[in-house]
Amino acid sequence: MTVRFPFDNTYARLPERFYARLDPTPVAAPRVVRVNAGLAERLGLDPGELASPEGVAVLAGNRVPEGAEPVALAYAGHQFGHFVPQLGDGRAVLLGEVVGRDGLRRDLQLKGSGPTPFSRRGDGRAALGPVLREYIVSEAMAALGVPTTRSLAAVATGEAVRRETALPGAVLTRVAASHIRVGTFQYLAARGDAEAVRLLADYAIARHCPEAAGAERPHRALLDAVVARQADLVARWLLVGFVHGVMNTDNTSIAGETIDYGPCAFMDAYDPAAVFSSIDHGGRYAYGNQPRIAHWNLARLAECLLPLLAEEEGAALEAAQEALAAFGPRFEAAYIGGLRRKIGLSTEREGDAALAQDLLKSMAENGADFTLTFRRLCDAAAGPEGDAGVRALFAAPAAYDAWAARWRRRLVEEPEGAEARRAAMRAVNPAFIPRNHLVEAALKAAIEREDFGPFEEMLDVLSRPFEDRPGFERHAAPPEAEERVHQTFCGT
Ligand code: AMP
Ligand code: MG
Repeated sequence: MTVRFPFDNTYARLPERFYARLDPTPVAAPRVVRVNAGLAERLGLDPGELASPEGVAVLAGNRVPEGAEPVALAYAGHQFGHFVPQLGDGRAVLLGEVVGRDGLRRDLQLKGSGPTPFSRRGDGRAALGPVLREYIVSEAMAALGVPTTRSLAAVATGEAVRRETALPGAVLTRVAASHIRVGTFQYLAARGDAEAVRLLADYAIARHCPEAAGAERPHRALLDAVVARQADLVARWLLVGFVHGVMNTDNTSIAGETIDYGPCAFMDAYDPAAVFSSIDHGGRYAYGNQPRIAHWNLARLAECLLPLLAEEEGAALEAAQEALAAFGPRFEAAYIGGLRRKIGLSTEREGDAALAQDLLKSMAENGADFTLTFRRLCDAAAGPEGDAGVRALFAAPAAYDAWAARWRRRLVEEPEGAEARRAAMRAVNPAFIPRNHLVEAALKAAIEREDFGPFEEMLDVLSRPFEDRPGFERHAAPPEAEERVHQTFCGT
């Protein structure tokens, strides 16, 4: 069977200093773990072909398909605030780009595909656990409607990777609007390569904001668009309880997608200080810090673009500051708008933000589960008989009662009836998120027993997160005290 990928590559047309050309390194015994049939079809690929031995050879990096032009991308980045002038794809190659049935151009990247000139001391490989984590969480994010890179396939390599112990290796096929990061601009700017920064900016405009091309100042319009997308993205993260964990500038996508799922996790009990990453000792990337960090990362992008924003330095600085100043209001509008929908308000009144934020404050004080509180609130919105379920999530249920009384006074001003409100709320408050303890259990089953049943079950439940699924209540429940996972480890 011949696997055909309708490649139409543009990044590989950029100058050679943007990347290193190299083929993925073959692996010993590739075996398919999963092919994402729905995504494959959307991309114009045949899932059957992908799962065939020849397809799996491609997904493992053992065979370079026709039309692919594998490149490891160069980029830099601020990691935990410290600038590293050269990072780059140390364990990934971009095979090429395909234009899907929806007309959208997307990168196909193999992650875990062997060493590259950017590997530094790394082995270029990925372990099965982190590959499955990225698969589960990225697909869950997509189903929740959060912009994200996607997972097209996971294959086991039949080789061991050495971390603290020997672990089974795997390769993930990642699909992204592009892999251009804030760090890609930083790489070129740090080399003093002004021409390359301009080329990349023009490329990003053509690929991600064609409307900016016609603007009076196209590069300013590009910066504005990236600021807006990041503000919206981080608001979406907060509204589903997601903690990215490594918001380094090399993990900040120009296209505005969530990218690089390492030690990420969804929180159970609402806690603005929630941190899961084992390496984030200072809580730099804590849940509640994410907007501030996104803004900081965007300031690093603005610095790279300065020479393009105006001829004169003062004017350029002013333009950058103006663009960055838009982040706060944009984020607030997206976040407060989302909170309003989560508590069933379709109209705007003064005091709505305070009402929503007082609920969050009370949830934090009472250890209330983030996802379940909002999900059960949908029933409470239909009538007070739904209150018991929400109350039970609060350490001191009276705290909820006091808030609910205020909430009901506000709901009276809403035009919709109770049933319509409940339905609208259920469409924005998911029943299912990738509960961290279940993610860990699914990874453990796969790694220790080659049992992919729990992984498959999670993907199934998470593919329709807003639907109640009788029999799958376990996936909606927070962990018992002894099941709680406090730390997740890096993707490496
Ligand atoms: P990440 O923390 O996954 O965003 O990766 C940060 C940097 O480390 C990137 O340049 C990666 O390509 C590189 N890297 C991570 N893991 C490995 C590995 N196993 N081998 C080589 N490079 C790696
Ligand atoms: Mg990264």
